[in-house]
This record gives sequence, structure tokens and C-alpha cells, in this order.
Amino acid sequence: MHHPSQTLRALGLDLGGTKMAVAAVDGTGTIHARTTLPTEAERGFDRAVSRLANALDAILAQAGWPAGDVRGIGIGCAGPVDPACGLIDNPYTLTGWNGCDIVTPLRQRFGVPVRLENDADAAALGECFVGAGRGFDPVVMLTFGTGVGGAAIVHGVIYRGANGEHPELGHIPVLPESPPCYCGRSGCLESLASGTAIGAAGQIVGFADARAVFAASRTGDPAAAAIVDRALAAAATAAWTICHTFLPQRLVLGGGIMDEHFDLFAAAIDRALAPATQFTRPAVSVARAALGNDAGLVGAAALALRND
Ligand SMILES: [Zn+2]
Repeated sequence: MHHPSQTLRALGLDLGGTKMAVAAVDGTGTIHARTTLPTEAERGFDRAVSRLANALDAILAQAGWPAGDVRGIGIGCAGPVDPACGLIDNPYTLTGWNGCDIVTPLRQRFGVPVRLENDADAAALGECFVGAGRGFDPVVMLTFGTGVGGAAIVHGVIYRGANGEHPELGHIPVLPESPPCYCGRSGCLESLASGTAIGAAGQIVGFADARAVFAASRTGDPAAAAIVDRALAAAATAAWTICHTFLPQRLVLGGGIMDEHFDLFAAAIDRALAPATQFTRPAVSVARAALGNDAGLVGAAALALRND
């Protein structure tokens, strides 16, 4: 006898600027088949959709799932996206993809419901489904990679702002009078603690990239340590703001930087929150994301597996 959720089946898509991942995922979050293909956004949206549909056919065959068994298709895509209309509107990292409807062609081809969300929201849903956020409510996830992204899951549902828009937690200002940010302010979390920001600060003092800055900092290099300390302080101040805004039961930290340096960030955040007086301690636990690069894929499938 199988557990009922093993017989729930969905397809998850994680669409980024350089590659697109697709997977066949069951109701326990287990991936049965997967593949990755280059995005090649500049070669046109219609061509990408056609390649995606072929990839979905291939992984269904690989999983041995008839298309009719699939409950739906969930998509996480690098934003901005319009979840209500199913439109990708991201000329920044997906060249030429302005107002592109990805939901209709996939729904027509596969005959199942299709849902689109921002990739940060999909990743947070994935962590809540079978990762570090499971069993906690609310959950806020911050992802430290090339940029800093964030998402909040409240009562199992993606938190949305006006017009269904996505909160941009990477643009919490943490250090006035510091590097200008493309959002219009300066000293944002993203402009101090992203891989791009750490790498740029490092290059000024002779380091090749963010990885080199972290490595030198861990061996006591003062210039590198100053850059890392500034990133840690930025993360800690942003965490303070997030905790006083959402009071998450769990704060999940993900992204490439956390794969190696979660210990530094979690300690800085715990130290910063220790003197907080406006909520009971310990209300917030900090945990490293558990699903790695699969969080978006699994969370996208979770969108299609759920009933709402
Ligand atoms: Zn900003």
C-alpha cells in the first residue's frame, strides 16, 4: 500500500536567466525524473516554451507517468512575474521576455492547471513543503546568491503585496551612506551582502571574487574580514527588521553563500536578535535551507499539488 501522497503527481519548472530545470515530483516531494536545459532567452520565448514542453514530455516518459496522471504544472521564474495573469515580465535577466504568457500554451498542451510564481516564492514554498521550513509558521526565507531575494510564507500561503506583487526583502536599507543600489536607495541588504556586492568590494582591495574574500577572511586577513563583517552586520540588521515585521517562527537562509558560510550568518543573526524585547525568546529559529538548488523545482511542483 502506497502512502496517498505518493500517488499525487505534478511537474515543476524552475526558470532562470541561464538555465531551465524541469522535474516530475510526487506528493512527498520526491523527484522521479528531471532535466536541465539552457534558457537561451534571446532566441525567443516561443522557442523556449516549445523546448520546455518537449522536456516535460521526456521526463514524463522517464518517470513512467501518463500525462493524464499529473495534477498540474507549477512554475517558478526569475521575477518580475504576474502570478494572477500567468505572465513573465522580466527583460532584466530574460532578454525580450516582456508580458509573455507561459501558462496558456502549457495548459493547452498538457490539459492540466498551470500556475506561475516568482522563483523566490517557489523556493520558500519548497522549503516549507519538505525542507527547513516544514512545520513552522510563518516562515521567511532569504536567499544569498548573486543578489539577495526573500519570500514569506504565512499559513502555508505566499505573502503578497498590493497588485499581488512580491516583497523585495533584499532592499531593506541597512547602512545609510553606503553603496548606491539600483532600486533607488543606498545601503540595501543586497548591495552589501550579495555575492556580487562582496565580490565588488573585494576587487577594490585585490581579491578576485566573493569566494576569495570569504576564504581570506577566515584566515584573518583584515581587509577581507571588514567586507565580510559588513555583510554579516547587514544580514543581522535586515533580520532584525524582518523579525519585527513578520515575526517568523523560522528564518531560512539559502543560496550559494549559505552552502559554505551559514555558520557565520546564523551566529551574527542570533547575536543581533538576542537583546530583542518585543517578542518572547526564542521565538525565531534560524536554519539553513535544506533543498539546495532543488527548492525552486520542488516548490513549483508543490504549487500544482495543493488544493487552493
Ligand atoms: Zn536596493
